[in-house]
Amino acid sequence: MNKSEINNTIEMKTVITPKYQQMLNTAIQEAQKGLDEGGIPIGAALFLTDGTLLSKGRNRRIQHNDPSIHGETDAFRKAGRQRSYANIIMVTTLAPCWYCSGLIKQFKIRTVIIGESVNFSGGIEWLKKNEIEVIDLQSAECISMLENYIQRNPDIWNEDIGED
Ligand SMILES: [Zn+2]
Repeated sequence: MNKSEINNTIEMKTVITPKYQQMLNTAIQEAQKGLDEGGIPIGAALFLTDGTLLSKGRNRRIQHNDPSIHGETDAFRKAGRQRSYANIIMVTTLAPCWYCSGLIKQFKIRTVIIGESVNFSGGIEWLKKNEIEVIDLQSAECISMLENYIQRNPDIWNEDIGED
C-alpha cells in the first residue's frame, strides 16, 4: 500500500463511521422505547447499504410475553420479505445472541454493526469466522443502558440470554 492509498483508507473510515453511528442511534432509540415500555433495552434496525432505513425493532420479550422477539428478529420481521440480504446492514445495540447470529448467517446478511459486546458477546466470534463483517462501535451509551438494566433486573436478564 503506498502513501496515497493509506490516506484513502483513512479518509474512507472517517466518512463511514458517522453513518454507522447514525444507524446505531436508530437502534438506541428503539432500545430506549423498549425500556420506557418496561422491557429489556435492546434495539435493532435494518438499513440498505446506501443508508436507507428498512425497518427497526426492539426486544419485546416482556411486553408480549414472547421470548422470540429479540431486537434483531423484530426488525427482521418488520422488513417483510426481501429477495436478497446482500445489500442490507443489520444494526443492533448489543452483540447478537446465538439465535440472531443464526438468522444473520441463514439470510446471508454480510455486515452487522453492534453497539457493544461488553455486557454480552453472543455469537460475534462465530460470525467473524463465517466471514460476516462485525463492526463494534463500543458505544458507552449502549454499555451503560444495558448494564443499569441488568443490575436492576438480573433474573430477567438471565432468562433472556438462556442462563439458568
Ligand atoms: Zn437475539
